[in-house]
Amino acid sequence: MKQEIKAYDNVLGLIGNTPLIKINKITEELRGNFYAKVEAFNPGHSTKDRIALYIIEEAERQGILKPGDTIIETTSGNTGFSLAMVSIIKGYECILAVSSKSSADKIDMLRSMGAKVYVCPAHVSADDERSYYNVAKRLHEETKGSVYINQYFNDLNIEAHYKTTGPEIWEQTSGKITHLIACTGTGGTLSGAAKYLKEQNPNIRILGVDAFGSVIKKYHETKEFDNDEIYPYRIEGLGKNLIPTATDFDIIDKFVKVTDEESAHMTRNIAKTEGLFVGYTSGAVMQAILQYAEEGEFDENSNVIAIFPDHGSRYMSKVFSDEWMNAQGFFDSINLEEAQKIEY
Ligand code: PMP
Repeated sequence: MKQEIKAYDNVLGLIGNTPLIKINKITEELRGNFYAKVEAFNPGHSTKDRIALYIIEEAERQGILKPGDTIIETTSGNTGFSLAMVSIIKGYECILAVSSKSSADKIDMLRSMGAKVYVCPAHVSADDERSYYNVAKRLHEETKGSVYINQYFNDLNIEAHYKTTGPEIWEQTSGKITHLIACTGTGGTLSGAAKYLKEQNPNIRILGVDAFGSVIKKYHETKEFDNDEIYPYRIEGLGKNLIPTATDFDIIDKFVKVTDEESAHMTRNIAKTEGLFVGYTSGAVMQAILQYAEEGEFDENSNVIAIFPDHGSRYMSKVFSDEWMNAQGFFDSINLEEAQKIEY
C-alpha cells in the first residue's frame, strides 16, 4: 500500500484555524466564561498572516499580480512580516517603507524574510515627501506591476476577517458566543469578524479597545476628529492618529481605553498565570475585559471571545524586559532589584 506523506505544501497552509484557549486564572473573580483566540499560532505569529494572504490572493484572482511583481506596504510590524512571508512563497518582491523609530531587531526580522526595507525619517509629518507614507506611494507609482496593500484603507482587510476569523469563532463556539472583544489598529479584525458574527446573531456584543493617546474611541462616540486626543503612547498596533476606513464604526457597540502601564503588567501576567506568551495588545485586550466587567458588561451566561493578536517574542526588549519596564516608570527600582535577585 502506498504510504501517504502528511505534509503542508508550504508554510501558508498553516494560516488561520487558530485555537480558542480558555482563560482561567485571570478571570477567576469575573462573571462569565472567557476565551482567547490565539493568533500567535499562525506561522508568521500574528493575525496579519490572514490579511497578507487574502489581499495578495485577491489581487492574483483579479489578475493584478503576476509572478515577479512587487508588494509594497508601510509597516515595520506584523503586517510587514506576514507580507514578506507570503511574498517568499509566491515569488513576489516585498518592499516595506518603515519609520526610523522601528527597532533594529524589527528591521533585521523583515530583511531575514527577504523584504527590501526603506528606512524613512520618523520626525517628518505624513505629507513630507520623505515620510514612509509618501515613499511607499512613490515606490508604488514608480514600480510597474506593484500592489500597494494600504491596510488602513483597504476593504479587503475587513473581508479577510469576515471570511476567516468570524466563521472560525462561530464554529468554535457552536454559535454560543455572546461578546467579541478586540484591540483596533486598522480595525479590520474586529470589524470583519463582527460583520460575520452579527449576521448569524445580531445580539452579539462587539467591544472595542482603544489606547489613551488615540482618536478612535472619541470618534466612535462623537463622529468628530479631536486632535486633543492625540499624544504619544507605547503600545504598538493599538489605536491611531487618523480614522481608518478599515474600521466599521457602526458595527462596534462600545470602546474602552487602556493604559500602557496596566496593559504591560497584564501582558506579563498572562504569561505567568495562563502560560501564554503573547504580545502587548493581548495584555491590552485582557485589561479591557477587566474594565468592561467592572461596568457590568458580563453575566454568568456570557461567553466572551477575545482576540490575542500576536506572539510575545516580538516584545522581548519591551514589556518582557525588566529594564524597559523600569525605564517607563512601570516598576519602582526596589522591585527591579527584587525581580532580578537570584539566591542560592
Ligand atoms: N495588535 C497588534 C500587535 C497589531 O499589530 C495590530 C494591527 N495593527 C492589532 C492589534 C490590531 O488589529 P487590526 O489592525 O486588525 O485592528
